[in-house]
Amino acid sequence: MANPDKIRAVAERVMKMAQQGNQMVVVLSAMSGETNRFVDLAGQMQQIPDPREMDMLLSSGEQVTISLFAMAVKNAGLDAISLLGDQVKIHTNTRHTKARITNVDPELITAQLNMGKIVVVAGFQGVTDDGHITTLGRGGSDTTAVALAAALKADACEIFTDVDGVYTTDPNIYPKARKIDKITYDEMLELASLGAKVLDIRCVSLAKSHNVPLHVRSTFTDTEGTWVVEENEEMEALPVSGVTYNKNEARITISKVPDTPGTATQIFSPISDAGIIVDMIIQNTRSSDLTDMTFTVPLTDYDQAIEIITDVAKEVGAESFNGDKDIAKISIVGVGMRNHAGIASTLFKVLSKEGINIMMITTSEIKVSCVIAEKYTELAVRSLHDAFELDKDVLPVGEQ
Ligand code: ASP
Ligand code: MG
Repeated sequence: MANPDKIRAVAERVMKMAQQGNQMVVVLSAMSGETNRFVDLAGQMQQIPDPREMDMLLSSGEQVTISLFAMAVKNAGLDAISLLGDQVKIHTNTRHTKARITNVDPELITAQLNMGKIVVVAGFQGVTDDGHITTLGRGGSDTTAVALAAALKADACEIFTDVDGVYTTDPNIYPKARKIDKITYDEMLELASLGAKVLDIRCVSLAKSHNVPLHVRSTFTDTEGTWVVEENEEMEALPVSGVTYNKNEARITISKVPDTPGTATQIFSPISDAGIIVDMIIQNTRSSDLTDMTFTVPLTDYDQAIEIITDVAKEVGAESFNGDKDIAKISIVGVGMRNHAGIASTLFKVLSKEGINIMMITTSEIKVSCVIAEKYTELAVRSLHDAFELDKDVLPVGEQ
């Protein structure tokens, strides 16, 4: 969200639903680019902006969109009221710029709904118990929406966005990508953490824990998007739901590390102390009492991680270390993997047929990920999409 056109487009969708007899609460984020502009302005005033003042600044963008939205609704002859986070009592903890919602008081919203109004709430912001304004971290409006849906026991939380749903893979890489009608929370969590940027991870996990059905859909059409819902048997019919990739990671390997208790903590504590999030970790077994450790870090943290490892490798007595920025992680995700055999081996077969070397492998119950050379990303994604027939609709054979 949201330029004036988008505000009007969403207002139209919302008013239509209201006229069908639904009580509507709308959560808005700031105009697109606005929050970035604030971050930039803050940096011009103070090198490391004061977090409390930062929240005062960042939260202002949403005040603009909610008031404009309410005006658009009133212009069409319906009634609306815009409310800020502190007015609807979205309580958060005190961690400015990355606060967590602790409690939502739905009373005021319910009262306004019962007066026949469309209630328009500022996303991304809340208030501490002491009355200070907080924000929830970038992309936080989706989380506000789900928190309100949960508190109000809403039928669903509809997320209007620039894309018309969640796809089996990135349509920019593969035009055969298909819009998914229904996906489980767990699959969506995997897809979100693997780099599919449609929905914020916090919003999905909150929806999962409160069982709020999410509908990801386009701002500009009435077409159904993708529903993110609880798992059911029908969804397990298909072993793989999507293929994702992430080029924003780098690999680091430390070779011939003494295979003794405490080595892993010696290596990874300084990395985590620096706030670097390690994704995959693999430790090899060697025949001697030495081992190799390979792990991945976000590309943006690579240089800092290498600096840390330069010292750490010496400390633990490793023989050498090396890194590679030109890697990508490709993953297949699907709840059906739990009861379909041979999914990982199909993946390996597909990659080997294309001559793509696998550098690292990790698996979870509903995901298999491989690290490969970055230049093969597109080829791998397309081949896997074909091999698992993701362009076909979800109905099991015989039921078409
Ligand atoms: N305006 C905030 C941001 O840009 C919140 C959001 O977009 O969800 O991060
Ligand atoms: Mg957003």
